[in-house]
Amino acid sequence: MLSNLATRDVETLIHPYTNLSTFRETGPLVLERGHGVWVYDSDGRPYLEGMAGLWCTALGYSNEELVEAASEQMSRLPFTHLFSGRSHDPAIELAETLKELMPIPTSKIFFTSSGSEANDTQVKLTWYLNNALGRPAKKKIISRIKGYHGVTVATASMTGLTANHADWDLPLPGFLHVGCPHHYRFAEAGETEEAFSQRLADELEALILREGPDTVAAFVAEPVMGAGGAIAPPAGYFAKIQAVLDRYDVRFIADEVICGFGRLGTWFGSEALGMRPDSLSFAKAVTSGYMPLGGISIDEPLYKALVTQSAKLGTFGHGTTYSGHPVACAVALKTIEIYKRDRIVEGVAEKAPYFQARLSALADHPIVGEARGLGLIGGLEIVADKSSKRQYEPKAGVAARCVAFAQAEGLIVRFLAGDRVAVCPPLVISHDEIDTLFDRLGRALDRTEAWIASEGLN
Ligand code: PMP
Repeated sequence: MLSNLATRDVETLIHPYTNLSTFRETGPLVLERGHGVWVYDSDGRPYLEGMAGLWCTALGYSNEELVEAASEQMSRLPFTHLFSGRSHDPAIELAETLKELMPIPTSKIFFTSSGSEANDTQVKLTWYLNNALGRPAKKKIISRIKGYHGVTVATASMTGLTANHADWDLPLPGFLHVGCPHHYRFAEAGETEEAFSQRLADELEALILREGPDTVAAFVAEPVMGAGGAIAPPAGYFAKIQAVLDRYDVRFIADEVICGFGRLGTWFGSEALGMRPDSLSFAKAVTSGYMPLGGISIDEPLYKALVTQSAKLGTFGHGTTYSGHPVACAVALKTIEIYKRDRIVEGVAEKAPYFQARLSALADHPIVGEARGLGLIGGLEIVADKSSKRQYEPKAGVAARCVAFAQAEGLIVRFLAGDRVAVCPPLVISHDEIDTLFDRLGRALDRTEAWIASEGLN
């Protein structure tokens, strides 16, 4: 029986990334408030938010300093924009702060309201750059199978997941995908991580050569893959990929929408993994999820091209009403101030070994094939047979069931395609709360194992 609120929801809302067919029976989990790493549903039941919302509420809930920053800006100047040279102090100060934080040479910052818009801007500016450089054929974008980059027409094309392509008439022509760097699932028997990384770099090189290097513009990658399965890359991966990109003058774009702002124990994931991108996209934790904000770094060669094209075309024809929204910028400034003052990123580096130890211990569970991650992000994979890595039929929905059991245990985690379960808690999670998270996840796995047996799924 659905509650009154749940019934009203089912009758009125379309939910993103939800099975709209089963949803009519299950109904929503309606959350009402949050405190620290905890959220409370409309019946007052607490849940440990093991996904930081959607990989974003880094400082947890109920952070009054962020509320005050938003409120102060709302009272002072709730809206102005950056079009036609108009500006405001939160955007200027935030751009300065971000420029200093960027792990790569950065000339300017461009703001968006989401990760999708940030990556969409990356595609457009890559095309624009190559037009400015007089190489109009160099336009193809390469990303990885299981990569996640957003839902606009271009970014859903970059995303390497079936749910974003099938029946959407995507990917668009000119968007190509190479293999997923998931050693557990895609390495050949006995293949070392280094050898697997080399094979993937060779595959990328072969694709560039087959397409023609003068037609390939950019390669886009998340440091640790998020929505595609919470997958940390194998040893040596990005160094080998980077060498290929350098050889063919292919622009390297890091999608730091999840890994940016401390998730891996460094300010950006690129630093943790030795990546040297030309540009990076950020969103989510830049405001700890309290306001929608994203953006990209603009390197000097790109900036020069934008200026040249503007002179020719009369304007830089890109931007949205809310690019650099003043309230979002004010909240981001306060968020970054707190990250620095409270040594949040250093705290992640200190906590990560314990978090990863508790995660990898779950690999001993009878239904877990792999439990691995980096920093404060982890993925585990449920399998029917640990030695052959055989999986359950997707329609059995085993990982979804595990996530439902976790919810019944008072823990929010997320199931992803391929029977993966992701964990990505707020960065402020304590040692004891890490214990609570993994104790509850362990019990959810036990219940899933019992359910599998009762359903006769083996
Ligand atoms: N890139 C990555 C790596 C993401 O995880 C996401 C969102 N989960 C996006 C891009 C898209 O961001 P948004 O949902 O804010 O458009």
